[in-house]
Amino acid sequence: MKPIGVYIHFPWCLKKCPYCDFVSFAKDRADIDHAGYAEAVLAELALRRGELAGRPLRSVFFGGGTPSLWSPSELGRVLTAVLEAAGGGEGAEITVECNPTSLDEDRARALRDHGVNRLSVGVQGLDPARLKFLGRLHDPDGGLASVEAALRSGMPRVSADLIYGVAIGAEAPSPIESAAEVDRVAATGVTHVSAYSLTIEPGTQFGELARKGRLPIAPDDAVAEAFFAIEEKLQARGLVHYEISNYARSGDEAQHNLGYWRGTDYLGLGCAAYGTIGDAAGHAVRYRNVPDPARYAKAARDGDLAALVESEEPLDPETRLRERIMLGLRLRDGFDLEGSARELGISAWTADRRRAADRLIARGDLTLEGGHLRLPPHARVHADGITAALF
Ligand code: SF4
Repeated sequence: MKPIGVYIHFPWCLKKCPYCDFVSFAKDRADIDHAGYAEAVLAELALRRGELAGRPLRSVFFGGGTPSLWSPSELGRVLTAVLEAAGGGEGAEITVECNPTSLDEDRARALRDHGVNRLSVGVQGLDPARLKFLGRLHDPDGGLASVEAALRSGMPRVSADLIYGVAIGAEAPSPIESAAEVDRVAATGVTHVSAYSLTIEPGTQFGELARKGRLPIAPDDAVAEAFFAIEEKLQARGLVHYEISNYARSGDEAQHNLGYWRGTDYLGLGCAAYGTIGDAAGHAVRYRNVPDPARYAKAARDGDLAALVESEEPLDPETRLRERIMLGLRLRDGFDLEGSARELGISAWTADRRRAADRLIARGDLTLEGGHLRLPPHARVHADGITAALF
């Protein structure tokens, strides 16, 4: 049986950040129905547990939103039920996304005691003005303190998230400043860092400002220079650049995200969660749960799977192969195009794809060895354009 991951969405944050396009609603911790939401997710799990039966559970990821706001005992109740449905889930990576404003040593220890073995902390930056511009509720010291608290708690693995390429007014940070920030975070002893360039999404406050021409945007070349400066700094700290935006000590790569990048199935639970479940013939269905927490909870409690799902998209093998190209080439090790195509029951090479690959290989922007595609390091900063050519 093929491995599977589980994603559980927690849809509340203390405040909505202006760049964020995730489904999250601002709410005080005391106003969240912690037990009610756990009951709803457990009810959904009861409807979907058949998908987990007999399959090795690779990972469980509590994302959001801010799942570190969730009462650890309620989160733990959900986790216990997921592991039980998966036959124990021995060895699975279990991650909770955290914000500095809802993570201290006691909370980290409580999560560890409930079986969580990895925390991903949204530090986002160490410059007070940029954190404010990003709408973050914590300051640089708060970000570092939460990472240190997570490490002190005995949590086996701690990752920090950072955003670079954030311009304020006419000023984008220099590559040296960006690299110095990630270096300070890496110096805490985290074994994984995710460093994302700021992307402006439509439908967000930043998206709206950008549309009106009122958002400062860092120039592409400054962002690319920061990308390479960050890479140099983190690699010097022993963190390997294993995916475009991700660095880890060997063995501490994010298993859940590796599953996404390699096209592994995952079960989505919770309001607004996505899930993708494949069949033996290479097809799959991607579903998305309703994004409204109250509608979600009612449908789950009613045991009404049809009302729980907002949309369903059938994915044919060719679409799945294109996704694997797009995501697999984000990885330092690339991916096995011909093996993936065999697994999906289709041919790896259309005439157009072969021509595009030959062109990219001749230009030095792609390698192909034994059916395995990979981007050389210099080309990774342009990965999106390169992978699109192979569609
Ligand atoms: S804390 Fe995270 S999920 Fe919540 S609004 Fe900010 S970016 Fe979005």
